[in-house]
Amino acid sequence: MLKGKAAVITGSTSGIGLAYAKRFAAEGCDVMINGFGDAEEIEAIRSGLARDHGVKAVYSGADLTKPAAIETMIQEAEAALGKIDVMIHNAGIQHTDPVEDFPPEKWDAIIAVHLSAGFHLVRLTLPAMRRRGWGRLIFTASAHGLVASLNKAGYVSAKHGLLGLCKVVGLETAGSGVTCNAICPGWVRTPLVEQQIEALAAEQGVPIEAAAKQLLGAKQPSQQFVQPEDLAGLAVFLCSDSAAQMTGTAVQMDGGWCAH
Ligand code: NAD
Repeated sequence: MLKGKAAVITGSTSGIGLAYAKRFAAEGCDVMINGFGDAEEIEAIRSGLARDHGVKAVYSGADLTKPAAIETMIQEAEAALGKIDVMIHNAGIQHTDPVEDFPPEKWDAIIAVHLSAGFHLVRLTLPAMRRRGWGRLIFTASAHGLVASLNKAGYVSAKHGLLGLCKVVGLETAGSGVTCNAICPGWVRTPLVEQQIEALAAEQGVPIEAAAKQLLGAKQPSQQFVQPEDLAGLAVFLCSDSAAQMTGTAVQMDGGWCAH
């Protein structure tokens, strides 16, 4: 469905972003992946995407807390892929602490990766999308873009901000052929959440699987994790013609979390 298109997907060396990259490549889309990790593993992912799906696949190790690195990454993507039709901003980090103990440097990093990077990525990719009259801007936000939880001041603020940015960009691009939407997952069992499960298990002195159940039990009525592949299916749908009039929206895939 995405043959001839090119996508930049941030935070795609792991978790949800990796599922996006695999699905977009399977749909025939050229991809730039981005994120941190072991160099050999990343090269195996990159070459696997190209080999398995016959698409161009390139990698940028840009640190999204640095605007100059984002600029270079976008220039590299345009040079390697010829254009950027789809920009998915998905990279993310987490830190939990009560607000009065929240380390200011963690606050700055969380706002930079989730929110400021989203602004820079839109600013740098939108002009060419407008000129071509087609584009898809997608943010991985979160249920935490819509509701709060304890001890997540940085993350909840950044994700709420990202939904604000999504609405503004949706308005400013309305009717242009470019859409901007946010995907709001509930719990997805990726390395980001595994850290939180491990912390809970240690805090409560319970096995990992009991902590995972506890995590779901508190928030996610389905009591089941959201699957990264299903989020990737939603992202592909947002790129389809059927989603041409969806813009400025926050689409939940959260096992009922936000219906509370
Ligand atoms: P993950 O830890 O598996 O992946 C995060 C990715 O972001 C990795 O590729 C990592 O290298 C990259 N990254 C982190 N900091 C970066 C930086 N400074 N520059 C470039 N890349 C950076 O986590 P995930 O769960 O797949 O999270 C992906 C997105 O989904 C995040 O935005 C997260 O907030 C969001 N999300 C996750 C869940 C969940 O339950 N896992 C729920 C809602 C939203």
